[in-house]
Amino acid sequence: MSTPNDDLMAKLVALCKRRGIIFQSSEMYGGINGFWDYGPKGAPLKRAVEQLWWKYMVEERDNVEGLDSTIICHPEVWRASGHLSQFSDMMTDCTVCKKRFRVDQMEDPNTCPACGAKAMTPPREFNLMMKTFVGPVFDEEHAAYLRAETCQPIFVDFNTIRVASRQKLPFGIAQTGKSFRNEINPRNFTFRSREFMQMEMEFFCHESESMDWFDYWHQERWNFYTKILGIPEEKLRIHWHDKLAHYAKKALDIEYLFPFGWDEIEGVHHRGTWDMSRHAEFSKQEQECKYFDQDRKETYFPTVVETSCGLDRICLMLLCNAYDEDTADTKKEGMDEDVRVVLHLNPKVAPVQAAVLPLSKKLEGPAKELYCKLRNSFRCEYDVTGSIGKRYRRQDEVGTPFCVTYDFDSENDHAVTVRLRDAMTQERVPVTGLVQWLTDKIYG
Ligand code: ATP
Repeated sequence: MSTPNDDLMAKLVALCKRRGIIFQSSEMYGGINGFWDYGPKGAPLKRAVEQLWWKYMVEERDNVEGLDSTIICHPEVWRASGHLSQFSDMMTDCTVCKKRFRVDQMEDPNTCPACGAKAMTPPREFNLMMKTFVGPVFDEEHAAYLRAETCQPIFVDFNTIRVASRQKLPFGIAQTGKSFRNEINPRNFTFRSREFMQMEMEFFCHESESMDWFDYWHQERWNFYTKILGIPEEKLRIHWHDKLAHYAKKALDIEYLFPFGWDEIEGVHHRGTWDMSRHAEFSKQEQECKYFDQDRKETYFPTVVETSCGLDRICLMLLCNAYDEDTADTKKEGMDEDVRVVLHLNPKVAPVQAAVLPLSKKLEGPAKELYCKLRNSFRCEYDVTGSIGKRYRRQDEVGTPFCVTYDFDSENDHAVTVRLRDAMTQERVPVTGLVQWLTDKIYG
């Protein structure tokens, strides 16, 4: 039986496809499980979130540097990190319906969650690294791996970046980019994908200060979701890990209340000196992994505090949080549809921040001129087709916060009507002050 929350996910998935936000990769070939494409309305949303993260984590700080590393690294990187030997999930197959599951995600490992048969194979280990070959020969000697997380190249490049940027500890290195995991069971739309974007920051410090830095980054990351992205606090929670990795001292997940339940969007981890000491051991380049602290007169492996989140999961959270349907107000606006589907997206991340809608085709000249002016400052769209009500609806569905209507009075009073998506009220704004008015509303 489907629940209201299943319906909500189904509606969101349908809306995302219909309006070109997110849809299955290679759909005309039947799709490929765990891979998703972001369309004309999804790509700007994703980029906007990534840019906000980059600004907040790198550009606004003197003690965090940026990196853009390759997806394929030397295979030894993944031996050192433990991914080749340990990055695996236990899986089990149903011998009746042939479906495969992660044992740690099953309520009862002996019963198939899909068909209910009690005919599961014994659990087997399944490595999540995606393999490829570098060079013309496809043999083990040329095997390489697509990175399973963006943080390993940060550890490997630590010293080069530290020297080049003349940083002293404590400082951090951040990067955003694609990661790949051969997930056994991709599910919940983009939540668990096989190709996804991560945004990670590794903060290098002295062991004695690491717990304070952990608390600091915990708070900073919480603020990112509540203050920068505007997610309500009651839809977020902290889940402390009680089972820690053997090298970790403290770890937490930031979770969001998705329609399918509470689930992780970000991890904040105290990783000790594990990463740096492992890369020293495997590369035999200890000097690249240690730090001489002039103030302390001490050489040591930096202790690492990590913040690690998934961009696709954040976009999914924003879409789930934004999705809404209302009816009563729709009638007030005199529209023919009964149900208004609207995404209450934060204007900072909305794929279209302002839509310019001339009331009549006769007004196209000055309306287009206004549109060209606005798009220097905001993500804009120009739409002249259909009734003004239909055009509002189209913009509501992709979360456009402001619709700017150029009407016949605009010619005389040099003002436009701005219709607000959430309140559905209208304001008359002088054209000369429009950029500032929108700037204040979007970024103020
Ligand atoms: P999970 O327990 O959900 O598999 P994880 O604990 O393995 O996640 P990490 O390795 O800590 O995740 O990765 C950090 C972040 O990267 C996660 O918080 C999540 O936002 C994102 N992430 C990890 N795996 C996926 C995936 N398969 N699809 C989308 N995002 C992912």
